[in-house]
Amino acid sequence: NKPTASNFIRNIVVQDLESGKHKEIITRFPPEPNGYLHIGHAKSIVLNFELADSFNGKTYLRFDDTNPAKEDIEYVESIKEDVKWLGFEWEELFFASDYFEEMYNRAVLLIKKGLAYVCDLSAEEIREYRGTLTQAGKESPYRNRSVEENLDLFDRMRKGEFQDGEKVLRAKIDMASPNMNMRDPVIYRIVHASHHNTGDKWCIYPMYDYAHPLEDAIEKITHSICTMEFEDHRPLYNWVVEQCEMEAQPQQIEFARLNMTNTVMSKRKLKQLVDENVVDGWDDPRMPTISGLRRKGYTANAIRNFCREIGVSKNQSVVDEQMLEHFIRQDLSEMAPRTMAVLRPLKVVITNYPEGQTEMLEAENNAEDPSMGVRQIPFSREIYIEQDDFMENPPAKYFRLFPGNEVRLKNAYFIKCNDVIKDADGNVIEIHCTYDPETKSGTGFTGRKVKGTIHWVDAANAVPAEFRLYEPLILDEEDEDDKHFLEQINENSLQILQGFVEDNMKDVKPQDKFQFFRHGYFNVDPKHTKDGKLVFNRIVSLKSSFKL
Ligand code: ATP
Ligand code: MG
Ligand code: MG
Repeated sequence: NKPTASNFIRNIVVQDLESGKHKEIITRFPPEPNGYLHIGHAKSIVLNFELADSFNGKTYLRFDDTNPAKEDIEYVESIKEDVKWLGFEWEELFFASDYFEEMYNRAVLLIKKGLAYVCDLSAEEIREYRGTLTQAGKESPYRNRSVEENLDLFDRMRKGEFQDGEKVLRAKIDMASPNMNMRDPVIYRIVHASHHNTGDKWCIYPMYDYAHPLEDAIEKITHSICTMEFEDHRPLYNWVVEQCEMEAQPQQIEFARLNMTNTVMSKRKLKQLVDENVVDGWDDPRMPTISGLRRKGYTANAIRNFCREIGVSKNQSVVDEQMLEHFIRQDLSEMAPRTMAVLRPLKVVITNYPEGQTEMLEAENNAEDPSMGVRQIPFSREIYIEQDDFMENPPAKYFRLFPGNEVRLKNAYFIKCNDVIKDADGNVIEIHCTYDPETKSGTGFTGRKVKGTIHWVDAANAVPAEFRLYEPLILDEEDEDDKHFLEQINENSLQILQGFVEDNMKDVKPQDKFQFFRHGYFNVDPKHTKDGKLVFNRIVSLKSSFKL
């Protein structure tokens, strides 16, 4: 399963090893612990870990936790769990907040070199002074404070003498630079907030563009892989590494982030869905989070294979969500046992089957893989079939049950419909059929053929179960840019059905996966399944659905 596909990042690594620039490759996966990981993060995880691993290098897991307000230990724990579950082991675990002292000292060094200053402009004034793409910025009136004054003010910022927003530390670079990121970017701000790791030790926090290159350099990361939005930040990244006199000089390389159809891929938006109770937590099976996909029934293998297949490039594109579905189908078609489940039950009475009798029939667990064995399923006078496998007045080419028609019951017998029982409102509540003992499955009966095969479960032994069918939570729309994403919510994203599974499903465990004949692949939901109540999530339908 080793990925070997070449890509532009791999080519850079190969060159750096051949030229002797690096002896060992070190990459990192640097999430901010402000939410749960999503499928986009999986792309970055697979890329970073497999790139280093294929050259016998190392990958670190680093929490980029420099923003106290939004971060939480719950997210730290979930991220560790998800990376492990995806099948990756980090060489070491780091917290960027452990480098706060060193980052502070490097900022002092910048001040001493005349390359940073304390600025009293408000956030809004700083924005105004920055200028535009076509117009140079204006220098801050505080830009030429003396080194001594800057050192004193920065020290007092750290000591908590000022309010949030009252002062910032800025890099002194070039207010006329064509690159807006180089126009004296803010590198420290005052935030009086408790941090999940450092508590109340700090009230000044480094900005991403200053902190990230230092984190990479401190850990001697050789190739710092990030998404395209940071391409314009690269000159600043290199400026920080150089001017802070870091020994290691990591190379920032950008790649296109994963976008997927009908999928919201931003922690901020996903958090909003959780906070506003649109979904049942970060691990709701409709969420594109790793924990949501896992709860829905995705395997780590399917996600890894998907990430390898989409590849790595600099071109923005949108991947069809059906591609992800392709990989879970591929994985489950090999490993998921086949079984029968009736999602919308309709009772069938087999009037010529002896009352009180039950026989056991043999069924294969996977026709394509005999090594998965067989199971015994009970059959008796009353069974359940799907409501839509019966029609009183069927259209042409309907080959399932209707009055006078004969079908095959999977693994059992042919049955023929003779009577339809209705309630006072005219709803079909029961079907009466007869069976033909000669047509028993496995006996090689060839006397006549039927066109339809339907599934069923024995009524006396059926195990009640809940089935949850999913559709995309957010639907793509043409004019979505003008719309708030919460207005694009699909009202039909979750459908809950009450039906039955075979009696041998009594002891299934959370996360067990099955193929329900004609319905698709299902996972035992770990949150809602408890003693006596079975809940199945549909992971994905079968390629050939049973629609007409
Ligand atoms: P979001 O916008 O969802 O909050 P983020 O980039 O802010 O994502 P981080 O925690 O900073 O989230 O991400 C950790 C790593 O994952 C980063 O290196 C980032 O580039 C990468 N990453 C995040 N989203 C994607 C994506 N959609 N495709 C590929 N990589 C991604
Ligand atoms: Mg980020
Ligand atoms: Mg973010």
